[in-house]
Amino acid sequence: MDDDVLNNCRMEKQKRNDELELKYSRNKYTVMIHGNNLEDFSSNIFDRLDELKRCTGITNPSMILPVIDNDTEIMSLKVTVDSYKDYLKLISKWPSNAFKTGVNIEPLPYNLTVIKCNVGKEFIISKEDKKIKQVEKMYGLSNLERMVTKDNNPTTKLKAQVKSIIDYIELLKNGVYLDITSKRHQVRPYILYSKVCRKCGNLNHLEKDCRNKACCLKCGGNQYTVSECIQKCINCKGSHACNSEMCSKVVDKTFSLNKYVLEILLGENIIKNRDEILRVPRQAAIDNKTPLDVDDKNLEKLIESCISKRISQIDFKVDSIKQANELNNQEIQNLKKDMNTVKKDINSINTKLNKNDEIQTNMNENQNETRSGIEELKALFWGLAKVTQ
Ligand SMILES: [Zn+2]
Ligand SMILES: [Zn+2]
Ligand SMILES: [Zn+2]
Repeated sequence: MDDDVLNNCRMEKQKRNDELELKYSRNKYTVMIHGNNLEDFSSNIFDRLDELKRCTGITNPSMILPVIDNDTEIMSLKVTVDSYKDYLKLISKWPSNAFKTGVNIEPLPYNLTVIKCNVGKEFIISKEDKKIKQVEKMYGLSNLERMVTKDNNPTTKLKAQVKSIIDYIELLKNGVYLDITSKRHQVRPYILYSKVCRKCGNLNHLEKDCRNKACCLKCGGNQYTVSECIQKCINCKGSHACNSEMCSKVVDKTFSLNKYVLEILLGENIIKNRDEILRVPRQAAIDNKTPLDVDDKNLEKLIESCISKRISQIDFKVDSIKQANELNNQEIQNLKKDMNTVKKDINSINTKLNKNDEIQTNMNENQNETRSGIEELKALFWGLAKVTQ
């Protein structure tokens, strides 16, 4: 009876999972085929295709590749199909004489990864630990491990791959209980963030594959002279560094890298808007034309550049005031000079006027003298006249 209930539960869950798989289709589904006689099929792809068709009915896989395990040197086949229907055929029961002596099918982990938050660093997460294996089994997880920083320091986050889409959705909605912490932990989707090539700033390759010339990631220039560096994005020409999440090209790349996950998150109402997966809120990206990074060093640089901008503005104002002052001083000097010439002119006019006065007085004196001369002459004339009478 209990087994029946369990089986019904399992079938019900599988049915819902199938519905979800059809709703959110991936572009590829991959399994590994393990068996004892796969070497016999390694030399000819058409032998492999014929056997796949005979056993499963699949006629057009996108890949059927012999893969040799480095440690065991055992050959397996990696098979990729592009529809969920074909994937279901791959994981269903194969004939006992498949590839001569029968095969085991191992579905490769989905590209669905989750992060569990706030798991104290004191809890050791070991793959061999029974309790960890139990958690993996209960929640449909594989490769549960602690996340580390770039410097290999442990964080409080655990990362794991999820084996089915239905487990993925339930984990994100409900979180997980961990026996080791006795707590319920929030679970978040693992998001791939786009990166630029650290050598040339290109969004489509990483530095290990770079064939371009190295350049400054902030301005795209080929020199690292800090004083001349004004932020200009290599990819969109915006006023931010090319690796900034302010860049719409970086954001678009992140959206396309997480296309499948985004479809599930939006379709299942786990997020309302695709911007929610971004680390820098988009509104901030639209509001601020200058990039504001969460990084302390960048913030420091930003503050420094703001202050130096203000200082140079103030310097400019002081300079123009000084210049205006100098001009004023010169004008005052010129006015003084002009005044002096005017003074001199007035003085010379005054002296000329004085001279005129003198001349006039002289003239007056002369006139008087002339008059008295005339009077004398008159008297003389009258005297003469009397004498002649
Ligand atoms: Zn490059
Ligand atoms: Zn630069
Ligand atoms: Zn940009």
